[in-house]
Amino acid sequence: MKNRSIRFRITLWFALLLLITAVLTFLAVRFASGIVLRGTLRNYLMGMVEENIDKIVFVSAEEKPETSLSNIYIEYENGFLEIDDDFLDKINDVSAALYRPDGTMLYGENPLEKYMSETTFGSTKIWSTEINGENYDIYDRQLSVPVIQSNESAEGTEKNTEVKNLWIRGIVSRSNSVNQLNEISRISFLVIPGLLLLLMMLLYVIIGRLMAPLKKIEVTAEQISEGYDLKRRIEVGDNNDEVSHLARMFNGMLDRLEKAFNTERQFTSDASHELRTPTSVIMTQAEYTLEKERTIPEYIDAMEVINKQSHRMNALLGDMLDYTRMDQKSDRYEMEKLDISRLVTETADQMTLLGEKNIHLTVDVEPWLKVNGNEVLLTRMLHNLISNAYRYGVQDGSVVVRLKRIDENVELSIVDDGIGISKDDQDKIFDRFYQSDASRSIQGTGLGLSMVKKIVELHHGEIHVESEEKKGSTFKVILPMLQ
Ligand code: ADP
Repeated sequence: MKNRSIRFRITLWFALLLLITAVLTFLAVRFASGIVLRGTLRNYLMGMVEENIDKIVFVSAEEKPETSLSNIYIEYENGFLEIDDDFLDKINDVSAALYRPDGTMLYGENPLEKYMSETTFGSTKIWSTEINGENYDIYDRQLSVPVIQSNESAEGTEKNTEVKNLWIRGIVSRSNSVNQLNEISRISFLVIPGLLLLLMMLLYVIIGRLMAPLKKIEVTAEQISEGYDLKRRIEVGDNNDEVSHLARMFNGMLDRLEKAFNTERQFTSDASHELRTPTSVIMTQAEYTLEKERTIPEYIDAMEVINKQSHRMNALLGDMLDYTRMDQKSDRYEMEKLDISRLVTETADQMTLLGEKNIHLTVDVEPWLKVNGNEVLLTRMLHNLISNAYRYGVQDGSVVVRLKRIDENVELSIVDDGIGISKDDQDKIFDRFYQSDASRSIQGTGLGLSMVKKIVELHHGEIHVESEEKKGSTFKVILPMLQ
């Protein structure tokens, strides 16, 4: 069962539930209709017997007309029982008959007469009996028949005499109604499985249609995993149901995956490219030097070149490692309420110690400004920006590190009067490994600013650069301030 498709399983479960519901409904209906039908028959039986009571009177011989079209006369005691021809003796399965007190039938119908050798009356309730495998309900009713006397014979007064102890017996067979129910059951047994089968087929088709988009997702996922083609996407229509939602999420996930995959590939390619330059310089220098015997100054020159390139490689590998670590950990850095004024002052003070190119560093910080940030990352950002100002500064130049509050933000500016950045380069300096031609000779890796940008983004801030070639540059970082 577990290996079957969801479509098959839903159809099967649904059919099973439907079957159980149908069987239970059928049994309940069958049971209820049996009770209702029997009740109706019994009411009908009693109604017919009760109605017949008024159809019988006793008349004396003198009162009996010679002929009558509407009444039947049966001799009884010293007169006649006058029975209206409306007397209901048989309607469908219900029969009724009139009896003497001793049990002999006077008039009417009783299909069981020959089986009931001794007819005893007594019960006034409906009772049941089984004859030849058939069930019958029987209702006996004792009655007193009024005696009709003419005015003359009663000498002007009407006497209320009665003929007592006659009985009317009503009988109804239950078999017919049971047969009808059995017939309905037989038809149901034929129709219900047919209907179920039809419903199952319909359901199978409907589920198939509903699951078509899921199938598409499955096929696309398969194609992607087989061919490693991250460019493929699932076609999603205008629908807004759960499956389309899932397909959109799947496409979104593929977008991010593709982007991450491309970034990764680009990084590896850029990194190899960057490392190739110092490696080939080292190799060429070593091979050239080893070609023949060299003088000591020549060896020293060669070793200096190799040393410089090794340092460059070392710096590159260090930055690359830092960058990758930061990229991987980007959503797991803990942020806390941080005194950015203190952090800027401390970092800038430490960097004055560099004293490179006799550059003068001025720190102008508004105190007690707070941000939600990570101290390690923000120190890294400050270090990269200030060391760039030194690196691309001029001899005896100046660098200003300023921090102030602007509305709901803090603005950090690092201003230098160094070599500056051309308009074209200003858009590219935040890309990984990018170095402007003017700065290629200066030792750097091209990763510092891309790291700075990433740190600023992690702190929900912005970074801008304003610069003019040979005049200097200003880097501005804006971070949301905490009260
Ligand atoms: P690098 O290690 O080369 O300094 P960065 O990412 O820090 O790498 O900087 C990228 C490029 O941006 C540098 O190579 C340089 O051309 C330019 N740059 C960065 N800061 C400055 C600055 N203060 N003045 C002039 N150019 C700068």
